[in-house]
Amino acid sequence: MASIRLSSLSKRFGQVTAVDRLELLIPDKEFVALLGPSGCGKTTTMNMIAGIERPTEGRILFDDRDIQNLPPSRRDVGFVFQNYAIFTHMTVYENLAFGLRVRKLPRTEIDRRVREMASLMRLDNRLDWLSAKLSVNELQKVAIGRSAITEPAIFLLDEPLSNLDAAFRAFMRTELKHLQHQFQQTMVYVTHDQIEAMSLADRIAVMNLGVLQQYGSPAEVYNQPRNTFVANFMGSPSMNLLPCSAVENNGVPALSFGEVGMLSLAQDDALLRRFRTAQAPSLVFGARPEDMEITTSDNDAGLAATVTFVEPIGPRTVVHLDMGGKTIKIAKEKRFPIGIGSRVNVVPPRGKCHLFDAESGAALGLE
Ligand code: ATP
Repeated sequence: MASIRLSSLSKRFGQVTAVDRLELLIPDKEFVALLGPSGCGKTTTMNMIAGIERPTEGRILFDDRDIQNLPPSRRDVGFVFQNYAIFTHMTVYENLAFGLRVRKLPRTEIDRRVREMASLMRLDNRLDWLSAKLSVNELQKVAIGRSAITEPAIFLLDEPLSNLDAAFRAFMRTELKHLQHQFQQTMVYVTHDQIEAMSLADRIAVMNLGVLQQYGSPAEVYNQPRNTFVANFMGSPSMNLLPCSAVENNGVPALSFGEVGMLSLAQDDALLRRFRTAQAPSLVFGARPEDMEITTSDNDAGLAATVTFVEPIGPRTVVHLDMGGKTIKIAKEKRFPIGIGSRVNVVPPRGKCHLFDAESGAALGLE
């Protein structure tokens, strides 16, 4: 088993910096998701861990051992790509057995492990099928099983579920967690899907433009985003971010949202603490859609908005509002009785609001 340390790791392709001085410690047996939009450097990071790409600068350590000069085959790393790379002229059994035969394991041991993996991946009734006859979902199960069966210390998965249908993706998320639990591997999982990362990972590394934005547990990354990029990237709908300025209203610190209204900070100790760390008056206020309230009564604590769209999504309703020309979204657990065009008050959640520096995007007053 192995921990992975990436130390000041960079990769440049000509003028493009794909990964920029990445510092990351992936503890032994943890499930870590590399999350970010297309082109942020996730795959390049994975390829460097696997040994497929050579870093321009920096070091990669497995259990404090520098593996820079080890070829991929000697890194004890399993790799599954988005596009399953399996031998379609072989049966499922032969595909699963392939890596074990290369390692020259005894026949009985190979047979035991193939059947165990087939059972885990629910491929028992497909073992003698030619792989060419399998569905896309089954092919990816074989690809994952074929890599996992050799029990590598480190298992790298690059968007392994993105070609699969939604129901099967949900099923496979559970299966992957079982797999990791059973084999106790260090797993690194590349995805651009924040829901996948939140549901699978022990820790999430959020990347943008080759730079690590935040590294923490799903709860940390969701509840305490370090900057506006992370705040916006995590959550669906994403966090409402509203430009505002720091002012004083009758001697009380407040946030001014222009024509939309003002938010006094007298009642919100947490927000006041964040406010006090601001270096400049231009700020960005953040609140999650599920935390905000809508009222139709005149409420001094609220901000004026107009309902523009009501979107029922299963048991939830997402209400779209125009707030001084900016769209915000509020998620309600129940049906929403207020019609389109209604003028309402939006009440931010006390103790759950975020504040960011408008210029740098950095979160203010994080513990
Ligand atoms: P995606 O989800 O689209 O695969 P990613 O986050 O995995 O994106 P990378 O594939 O690592 O991102 O790419 C990071 C940057 O490096 C991109 O700008 C990409 O165009 C560039 N890049 C990656 N590989 C190469 C290469 N072999 N030659 C030149 N540029 C490359």
